[in-house]
Formats: sequence, C-alpha cells, structure tokens
Amino acid sequence: MKATPIGGERKHMENKIRIQDDLYHFVNDEWLEKAVIPEDRSSVGGFADLDIALEKMLMKLFKDMAEGKEEIPNENFGKAIAIYKAAMNTKKRDEDGIKPILKDLHAIQSIKSITELNEKAHALSLKGMRLPFNYGVDVDMKNSLVHSFILTGSSTILPDTTYYAEDNKQGPELLKVYKEMALELLAYTDLSKEEQEDYIEATLAYDKEVAKHAKSQLEWADYIANYNPMKFDEVCSLLAPFDFKKFMTELYGDKLPKQIIVYEPKAIKELKEVWNESTFETYKKWAYVRCLLSNAGCLTEEMRFIAGKYSRALSGNPKSSALEKYAYKVASGTFSEVVGIYYGQKYFGEEAKADVIEMVKEIIETYKKRIAKNTFLEEKTKEKAILKLSTMKIKMGYPDKADPFYDELKVDPNDSYYDMLDKIGVQSEKHALEKLYKPVDRGEWGMPGHLVNACYNPSANDITFPAAILQAPFYSIKQKREENLGGIGAVIGHEISHAFDNNGAQCDENGNLANWWTEEDYKKFKELTKGMIEQFDGIEINGGKVSGELVVSENIADNGGMAVTLEIMSTMKDADYEAYFKNWGRIWCMKGRPEYLKLLLSVDVHSPVVLRANMQPRNFKEWYETFGVKETDKMYIAPEKRICIW
Ligand SMILES: [Zn+2]
Repeated sequence: MKATPIGGERKHMENKIRIQDDLYHFVNDEWLEKAVIPEDRSSVGGFADLDIALEKMLMKLFKDMAEGKEEIPNENFGKAIAIYKAAMNTKKRDEDGIKPILKDLHAIQSIKSITELNEKAHALSLKGMRLPFNYGVDVDMKNSLVHSFILTGSSTILPDTTYYAEDNKQGPELLKVYKEMALELLAYTDLSKEEQEDYIEATLAYDKEVAKHAKSQLEWADYIANYNPMKFDEVCSLLAPFDFKKFMTELYGDKLPKQIIVYEPKAIKELKEVWNESTFETYKKWAYVRCLLSNAGCLTEEMRFIAGKYSRALSGNPKSSALEKYAYKVASGTFSEVVGIYYGQKYFGEEAKADVIEMVKEIIETYKKRIAKNTFLEEKTKEKAILKLSTMKIKMGYPDKADPFYDELKVDPNDSYYDMLDKIGVQSEKHALEKLYKPVDRGEWGMPGHLVNACYNPSANDITFPAAILQAPFYSIKQKREENLGGIGAVIGHEISHAFDNNGAQCDENGNLANWWTEEDYKKFKELTKGMIEQFDGIEINGGKVSGELVVSENIADNGGMAVTLEIMSTMKDADYEAYFKNWGRIWCMKGRPEYLKLLLSVDVHSPVVLRANMQPRNFKEWYETFGVKETDKMYIAPEKRICIW
C-alpha cells in the first residue's frame, strides 16, 4: 500500500555513518537523500508517506463517486460528495465571488456598541464571529462522565507567544506576510482603500494585546493546568461589560451551569485590559478581518490561494493543494468518521485487526508485570497503576457505526459553497454545545479510521489505533514480529505510557483528575521526569533548541513504549534485536521543510524525529549489547545517566 519504500540502508563502504553513532541516518540516509517533498506538503516519509498514499486512493474514490463511476455507499457519504462537488464547481464559486461572506462581514461592521453586541452575540458567534473569548464544551476533568462549559482567551495570529518577544526575528516577518495577505483579501470587500489599511492595523494591534495575556505552547502542554473551575457569577463579572449571563441564557435557558472551567485563567482574568469600551472599535475590525481570513478559502479559488499564504510561510510549502485535493480534504474532513469507517471496512482486514488486538493485550499484560516489579513505587501505588491498565479500553481500526449526528447533519446541494459550509458550521457548533447536559459518550472516537496516527485519551483511559496506521513500516502481517514490535508495538506501548506520563499520571482509571500516588512515589516519579527533560533540553537542531519541558510527556511515552516492547523481546527465543531497533529508526523517517521543522520546535509536544529515533535506544542495555556500542560512540551514554521510567 505504501508508495515509496521507507528506509534503505546504504552499503557500509560508501556510507560513513555507523549505526552506533546515528541509528536514524544509518537506516534512513539513502531514502532521505532521494526523497522529494511534494510542493503542497511540509514533509514526506514515515507517517506522511502513508498519508500521501491513502489520500491518493481516497481522492480517486471521491472523484469517481462525484462522476457517478462508483456507487456512493450511504446517505452520509452522499453528503460528503455534495460538499466535494460544490468545492469543485469553480464556475459557481467564481460567480458568487465575495458575495456570500459579505452579509456576515456587514453584520460585524454594523454593531454599534457593546450593548448591541450583547444583543446579537449568540447568533453572530454561531455564524463564526469571534467574541472577545473562546468557549466550548468539554469532558469535565474531575468527573469524566459529565461535560463542562469551558473558556479560553482569543487565539493569537502567530503560532506561539514566544514569537511576540522583542528578540524574536521570525515574528515580525510572519506578521508582514499576514498583513500582505490580509490586504490582498480585503481588496475584494467593499471597504475603501483607507479602511482596508485601517482594518489590518487594528487587527495587528488587537492581536498584540491578546498575545500579552495568552498561554504559551509550553503552558498549554501542561494539560492538567487547564482545570480552573470558577463560579458562574465570577466569570460574568470578569467578562463584563460582555453580558455572559444573557449569552448563556440564550444557549441553555434557565439551566445555567454553576461553574465554568477556565482553561486560560490569565486571559480571562485580564480580559478587561484587552477588551473594553475604548478598544471596542479595534476589536470589531479584528473580528471582521479574522472572519474574512478564516473563511476566504471557501470563496473563489483565487481567494483560497491568497488565504493560504500565511500558513505556507509557516510551513515552507511552496504551493497550496490542487483543487481536487482541497475538495477531497474539506469533504472528507467534514464527514471524517463516515469516510474512516468506509476505509476501515474496505481495507483493514479482520485478520490484521485480531492480530493487533492480541498484540495490544500482550503489551498491556507485560506493562502490568513491569509495574509489579517496579522499584520506585509502593505496593499501594502499583495496585492503582495496574487497575488503570486493567480498565484501559482499546479502540482498534474504526468504530462500528458513525456518530448519529452525521444523520442529522443537513447539506443542501443548492447552496453556495460558502453557505453550505457555513450552515454545517452552525449545526456542528450547536451540536457541540448541546452536549453540556448530556452524559459523556465513551463510545466516541477521537480519530477517524483513515488517519495515520494513534492516541490515548486521558479522560476516558482509552487508546485508539485507526486502521490507517496499521500498515508497514509500523505493522504488517508479513513483517518479522521483531519489526512489528519496534514499529506498531512501540507505538502501542507509547500510547499506553501516556496513562503514566506527567499529565496522565494525574488521572485515575476512570479518567478523573485524582491523586492516586503516595507523596514519596510521586516525588520519585518527578525526579525521573526531570531527568528526561534534561536529556533533551537545549539540544541544538533544526535551527533552534529543544525545550525539554515542552516535549517531556511524549518522551516519557517513547521511553515506556521501548521498555515494554524490549521486555516482550526478552521472552522470545533468539529475538532479532537488530530488526527491532532498525524498524524503530525507520518509523521516524521524515524529511521536512526547514520552516516547518523550526515551527515544530516551538509548537510540537513531540521531539524532532531524529531525536525520537536516536535518544531512547541509548537508555536501554539491549541497544549496547546488540550493536556493541562503546563509550566512544555517539549513541552512548553512561549507565548512571540512562533513564527508564516505566
Ligand atoms: Zn504521544
């Protein structure tokens, strides 16, 4: 199923790289040299390659269905095809031009005062207007069976608050691109030239203030720190003069929540400094520009191209997706679960499913054994950890049936493309908000079947492996068991370890925020965590430095994934450790654009791929034994510095 073979070791003679110095380049170098990144992508290799192959196949399917050459499997898939067709209909999109969005932009412009905003806030925000804060409904961290209403501040234009620092050179450059892009798009509106300039200046000024109170990506990485319950009345007074009570009453009638969970307390507590009577006009212009920019992609193709300029500057991609790919992405993204089930049923065999489920169960059992013989936990804590493993739910491949919401979702093929997406947005938003007083559905999937990824959900204590990741090099029935263990096995172990990373360790077997540790145990765990931060912190790579703290949870997970799969290897007769480590090196194979790799350093909670491949093996004795790694080799660290947490 894979388009390009991954890996490809070079002959030792021509290759100066020794595996003992650099596993990643040893196994991937030849491939890396030849690989060409598609112009509309920021990377190629590993996860991205599987994604490219899958995209190609599904794109063809969408095209055939739209042209009547392939049967549409069900009504919901039909709605996705209707979106696809509307996106592909550039003649109609060109005729409509800027028109469809103007009514929404005019609605923002016409608000005369905060009083008037309070009147219309509910209706306008459903239609996508940004309020001075963001809101939503999420699973309550302390009681994962119910939902809470959550609040954050506004999002910033630049990807992280660090870009706004005085000494950050990239920030101003990116804002320049943003400004040029905005001006190009504003030129399509009915604003005068002067107004256009004024609107973008106001937007940048307002954004600068928002950034002063926003959380950094590093702060967001501390998932538990999101839990800040506040009394409803207190929130009302913090948001005033915004009439939060009226807003919530329109949403929920008399049944108002007693508390709100404030994910970004600084932004909410200091909102008055950013948003008040005197900044109201600036705010409105900001809301106008942001509405235009986030929706311009669904107007004409010309505008879609312009609207992608800023994100292309961030990722370094020279080109935006071709129309066909774009149409596929929007349609399959909107009906992701429906498409994922179709993909899973068609391409993910029962044999593979049963095989991987067995593997997951074996890894969980091995994990339990490792916890039982763990040396830094007390018995009481071990019992709780084992309970968490015993109750962990496995979601493998794809769900049995799609969320019933897809059945309710209305798509009118006669609408303009913009209106079609706009109406879907309103319905989805309503659906999401209505969940507040409904029990949490533990059967919901966090990822669709056609996504090349995997995840652990701390609030449900479940792990999800979409069908799309269950392919080579991660997994294949044809691969050696050792290769599967170094691939999908380590990924499975990684996801399980998230139950015990710095965030997961603070939730119990039901996914509730609760302390199940003794004070002493937790102290020891924190020390080990600190060691993992130090191993990565400050490493210079991809034009910047690694923040050990930002990537710590993922590194703990990688470490745990390797530990548990090596434990399984130790029970095998004549286990092929070379095959294990080499496939571990192979799954991280990725060639990325420099801009993109640099961006990841500040926003991604995962370490750069080279480090994911090369850092963890050094923590395990099997690495040294297999390849005879010595003190003089680059992938050597002294035994006392090696860390194995789980
Ligand atoms: Zn992870």
